[in-house]
Amino acid sequence: MTAQKMAVVNALRDAGRTHPTAETVYALAKRHLPTIALGTVYRNLSKMVESGEVVRILVPDGADRFDADISDHMHILCIGCGKIYDIEENNVKVEISNVPEDVQLIRFDVMAKCLCADCKQHGLNKK
Ligand SMILES: [Zn+2]
Ligand SMILES: [Zn+2]
Repeated sequence: MTAQKMAVVNALRDAGRTHPTAETVYALAKRHLPTIALGTVYRNLSKMVESGEVVRILVPDGADRFDADISDHMHILCIGCGKIYDIEENNVKVEISNVPEDVQLIRFDVMAKCLCADCKQHGLNKK
């Protein structure tokens, strides 16, 4: 493993369950390897997504988020502050009909939206 990838892996571990953006991973990775560049972090994250070590979470109108927990779980996104919470079990069962015959479904990602406790209390405008 390259020193750069090691720094990214450590950064993801430091981020815990916060589902960091690439920028956040970069900030954390710099603590392990001060010379690392943002582009290098992006490249390593993309490679790790391709190899299945990390999951990329697409956020509508926001930066991609990354999750080192590759188990089958669901996410809920707070529309107030952008925090992403894990739902342990992927317990949403969806049947999709009318899929064209020659198309193979790979997975169905669900991103539910919520207002977290903080945002519920302080309103949507709090950042
Ligand atoms: Zn919130
Ligand atoms: Zn997650």
